[in-house]
Amino acid sequence: MITAIRQNLKQYWGYDQFRPLQREAMEAVCSGRDSVVVLPTGGGKSLCYQVPAMVLGGITLVVSPLISLMKDQVDTLVQNGIPAARLDSSVDYGLQQSITDALLSGAIKILYLSPERLLANGFTNFLRQLDVRFVAIDEAHCVSMWGHDFRPEYRKLSVLREMFGDRVTIGAYTATATELVRDDIAVQLGLRQPLMLVGSFDRPNLIYRVKRRNNLVPQVREVIARHKGESGIIYCIRRTDVDNLCASLSQLGYKTRPYHAGMSDDARRMSQDAFVTEQADIIVATIAFGMGIDKSNVRYVIHTGMPKSLENYQQESGRAGRDGLEAECHLIWGGEDYGVWKRIIQGSEDSASEISLKKLSGIYDYCNSGACRHKELLRYFGQDAEYDSCSACDVCLDELEPVADSLVTAQKILSCILRLEQRFGAEYNALVLTGSQDHRILLAGHDKLTTYGLLKDEPKQAIRNWIDQLISQGYICKSGEYSTLGVTPKGWTVLKGGETPRLLRIALGKAKESKVSTESWQGVDKPLFDRLRAWRSEKAVSMSLPAYAIMTDVALRNIARFRPDTKARLLLIKGIGNKKLESYGDEILNIVVNHGGGAVYAPVVSSPKQSSKKKDTKEMAYEMFANGASIEDVATATLRAQSTVSKYLVEYIEDNRITDPSAWVSKGDFDRIKKGTAELSASGLTPLFEHFEQQIPYTTLRIAIACLANRKK
Ligand SMILES: [Zn+2]
Repeated sequence: MITAIRQNLKQYWGYDQFRPLQREAMEAVCSGRDSVVVLPTGGGKSLCYQVPAMVLGGITLVVSPLISLMKDQVDTLVQNGIPAARLDSSVDYGLQQSITDALLSGAIKILYLSPERLLANGFTNFLRQLDVRFVAIDEAHCVSMWGHDFRPEYRKLSVLREMFGDRVTIGAYTATATELVRDDIAVQLGLRQPLMLVGSFDRPNLIYRVKRRNNLVPQVREVIARHKGESGIIYCIRRTDVDNLCASLSQLGYKTRPYHAGMSDDARRMSQDAFVTEQADIIVATIAFGMGIDKSNVRYVIHTGMPKSLENYQQESGRAGRDGLEAECHLIWGGEDYGVWKRIIQGSEDSASEISLKKLSGIYDYCNSGACRHKELLRYFGQDAEYDSCSACDVCLDELEPVADSLVTAQKILSCILRLEQRFGAEYNALVLTGSQDHRILLAGHDKLTTYGLLKDEPKQAIRNWIDQLISQGYICKSGEYSTLGVTPKGWTVLKGGETPRLLRIALGKAKESKVSTESWQGVDKPLFDRLRAWRSEKAVSMSLPAYAIMTDVALRNIARFRPDTKARLLLIKGIGNKKLESYGDEILNIVVNHGGGAVYAPVVSSPKQSSKKKDTKEMAYEMFANGASIEDVATATLRAQSTVSKYLVEYIEDNRITDPSAWVSKGDFDRIKKGTAELSASGLTPLFEHFEQQIPYTTLRIAIACLANRKK
């Protein structure tokens, strides 16, 4: 079974390896076991059901909530040479007819459906006639009330089990689900002793930063500047914010499009298409955007306001870097965002508004925390990090530095709150501490307080940050309509010097470069990458396909890194399978060869991650031999002598019982050697070498003999 899974993975998707839990998830389906699979965005979730669909035969149904999401996935599958189709309200009658015919004749393997369509009257009877073997439910958290995106029509999917009985396997897939939600999914869908697979929520390729909002447009531009010409998503809380920011950025010359629920369907689709085909680099959107989009090479996600919950943040920021390459998640927020969300939540008819408010404080604490961002996110989903420093967040990259005299600073702030009789909010307290001439302060006589101007050398923004940090650490509490500050019992301990809070400030020095970013561009010919990217965008537009469906960023970077100049070498690039080679091989080779500088081939199969693990040369050689690479190619790639590599090849043939030498020995030579060994009485290589009058090299003889020996075993 695992062989069949591997073969399909390589043939259609061009991958040699599994990402964490993919193998287990695929094996469960292929052996007929129900499962609940939680793989965070970017973890390769869809492959977990698409590959088994090809292995199992028959028909696989994929239930998915959004038309655009289905469309993208089906487009990508068809691009990979897989017979897939979708049935939803946007498909016209004629096409529906031909799809149903194709289903009956078994010409379609994977069918995408919305839950409404699946459960429509009459349609269930049609489905019963088909050879359905597997049903995959995508975005399965929508089944549960406890999730953050409950959809009543998903709950009706409980009929699936009755509909198909025990003959189908059901798999539920989601990127985000707490334990409560996972169990609920299993119960609601009537899964039989499902295998629960929960991937790590850690996304080491994402770099998290959290900044206080002070001057939004320059703050946003600073992030964009780090990702010139690359794709990014900017989230705003309100539609007006979207329109304003989009206009400002367009005026500054950025290729930007807006997206929010107030726009017409057509206008929204145009924005989305421009982004997906890379005619626009940036999309400025409300959170209405994203659920239906599956673009793998988003290099940054900026939030210009606080998200609604950590689940939302994990999902929205998680749209960055789904291809596994480094990406930046930049959260810019202000204290007033809390109030904005609170009003939205309380104004809605959300029956779970209490749960929502609790989730809101969770994200608020995250914004104010001075702890590793990766660890904080993991902790929220009930997981622990194994590292001390993630090297990929503002805290671990030392972009925030601890305040030297945290205790004294905290005491000054707490003392000011008490002097103001715990009747004022954060802004007012900060003004008093900076010694502001604000007329309210002068009018109230607060410039006479002993705490007035106690922190006059600090910017007000820094004091606001510290107040927030003290709140999230439980030293200060906020209460009432005006969010007045009060000192908690824990805060009193600080005043008595019994405890020291951890206060951080934004470092002014140049930030360290993150580990991930230095690795993933190593050896990449940047101008070549840009040319390939431009080619991809043209292709995307002319074929009306998302750019990533044509080729992923990982593949493009590897092409620009290894500059393959033949089809065989191109096939060694991760992400290029037979279909891709057939469709685009010539065009890509053309670009690489014409790029100049002589395409020096130093391929490899290794992604930056593998190279950091110092992958064994021999293992690398084996992998290349398995793909039919020549001794010369492997020698160039591994920087080893040809004699060493030919030794590896003979060992490879022996270890893997290879009987077919055609990749390394011509048929004529092999036939002659075969005949020669049969005729010759003496054993050993030298007599054979002499027998052919030194015309066939030793290496060729060794390879042929090793294969012949395997045939006898
Ligand atoms: Zn960190």
